Amino acid sequence: MLEEITTNARQIQEQLLGEILSKNAETEYLQGFLHGQTDKQLFKKNVPIVTYDDIKPYIDRIANGKASFDILLVEPLIGFSLTAGTAGGQPKLIPITAESANVTEALDLPETLLLKAPPPSGYWHRNSSEELLQQQSPKTNHFGLSIYRHFGDLSQVGKRMELLYAKPEVETPSGLKASAVTTRAFKESSFQAILPKLYTSPYETIFCPDTKQSTYCQLLFGLIQRDEVVVIGSIFAATVLRGIKFIENNWRELCSNIKTGKISDWITDSGCRKAASLILKPNPKLADLLEDICSCKSWEGIVRKLWPKTKYIGTVCTGAMLQFTAELEFYCGGLPLVSGIYACSEGAIAINMEPLSKPSDVSYTILPNTVYYEFLPIKEDCVTDSQNQVQLNTSRHKDTETVDLVNVKPGQCYEILVTSPTGLYRYRVEDIIKVTGFHNNTPQFQFVGRQNVALGVDMERTSEADILKAVAEAKALLDLLGLILTEYTSYGDTSSTPGHYVIFWEIKPKEGNNNNNVGKELDPKVMEECCSKMEDSLHFTYRMYRKENIIAALEIRVVKQGAFEALLDYFVSNGASLSQYKTPICIKTKEALNILDSRVIAKFFSPRTPIQDN
Ligand code: AMP
Repeated sequence: MLEEITTNARQIQEQLLGEILSKNAETEYLQGFLHGQTDKQLFKKNVPIVTYDDIKPYIDRIANGKASFDILLVEPLIGFSLTAGTAGGQPKLIPITAESANVTEALDLPETLLLKAPPPSGYWHRNSSEELLQQQSPKTNHFGLSIYRHFGDLSQVGKRMELLYAKPEVETPSGLKASAVTTRAFKESSFQAILPKLYTSPYETIFCPDTKQSTYCQLLFGLIQRDEVVVIGSIFAATVLRGIKFIENNWRELCSNIKTGKISDWITDSGCRKAASLILKPNPKLADLLEDICSCKSWEGIVRKLWPKTKYIGTVCTGAMLQFTAELEFYCGGLPLVSGIYACSEGAIAINMEPLSKPSDVSYTILPNTVYYEFLPIKEDCVTDSQNQVQLNTSRHKDTETVDLVNVKPGQCYEILVTSPTGLYRYRVEDIIKVTGFHNNTPQFQFVGRQNVALGVDMERTSEADILKAVAEAKALLDLLGLILTEYTSYGDTSSTPGHYVIFWEIKPKEGNNNNNVGKELDPKVMEECCSKMEDSLHFTYRMYRKENIIAALEIRVVKQGAFEALLDYFVSNGASLSQYKTPICIKTKEALNILDSRVIAKFFSPRTPIQDN
């Protein structure tokens, strides 16, 4: 199947665009640019490249029920997907149709569903061969097949301990429901049918509205079923790490619950209590064993000890999640970190055909049958040459030729545009990728970062990729102090002139988990060197501005343990889905800033101007 669609990528893409245009030529949106025509060249000439903000007025009209539904597409909407909203502002509403729901869910689901569940009907509707559809067996969809090749059929030997969180749906004034794509997936009857057999988390814990209670119970039930667990995971790596830290902070209570067979009183959610009443039985032997494991001095490799049959960690470790992999590796003791898919609420985009590749090496293979792609070349290589900043804006895009899927060039960075069956036309996903090669006629790429996440305190713009690289270089110095950088984010501080970059760091000792003394242990010389190192590795304009005192010295603010947990709580209480939460690379709101600022334990500034190019 994958061979067929990747070989016929060009035809599949052409056919898909043709279908989208002929179906939707009469919509208000396309009429305005194409006047009823469906010509593909005209489409690229006349229909503008847009961001979410550009189409928001159309989406708002649909959501507010003030207009008929054929504003963006002819097919009726069944609701909206809510994006996580933390990587680039507020959550967005992405239209869903009955048909598209199948495609998106198939790829946004936790990977088990890719592994075992039959693809939902219609998933392969883009494929030219009906016969292949008939032959599709439950366990041989794309990603499932590559996992199967490496690990065998894990669903026959055990369960998955995945931290999964559903978020309540929101009803728009038009009566359409908006929910996180993952929540929609969890509500699917096919998911609920396989849940008890394949997962350790009961349905009630996934749907528990209190995330702390949900996490506690999911981990408790995961520990109880430790002998059955073969995969640990969540959608994003940050969530897996939070889960491990949660156990680190709460293992005594978890063990006590297991010993007595009684769940803690503060678990008040009736669903969680009901699930506990069915699963939790007094088991002093297991409690003693777990206590033994957890009370060891170093937590290195703890995941293997707690869940000895685990084969791999299934979670997205690329992009913004790369920052968590060092710590995950520490806890997971050599277990493979498997990033299965690249997907977003706007569409299912790509899969990883080599699940065992290291997170920093993962290349995703595009699925040419889900949305129609165009690629906006980014002039400079945004990965390997940090002197050049990634700078794009919509007005520049108007003059820029886009490249079709099959014509992208290896080594080149692009921003992805999608035209989807859900009413998005030449829409900027705002993700940047670097093409690494081809599988048949379909490109493979590494995820580079979000286009719109940038720091800037003057005219300069610093991309997410720049920040990631700068932090990666500086944090190596922490090794000298026996410390690990656990989380970070950044902030463009313009409260004084000139403005300066602030990087918030949460740090902990390699041994043990308590960072209360970290502030005292930090050698100012090393920390100042960390500041300078970051500046040295930032782009040309930044360093030039620093020399000319247009930007002041970069500052590291070390925050106490739990500060980033508090940031997460803030975003979740403001509507972000916990399952899809990603620590923002840049802080943009006063509230979020206050959360971190109120937890600062030490501050350091770069003592010199960064190294300039000759
Ligand atoms: P959302 O719109 O909330 O569904 O989030 C989708 C965004 O998450 C994408 O646009 C990417 O920025 C990010 N994302 C999804 N999958 C991956 C991946 N495999 N690697 C890196 N980032 C990803």
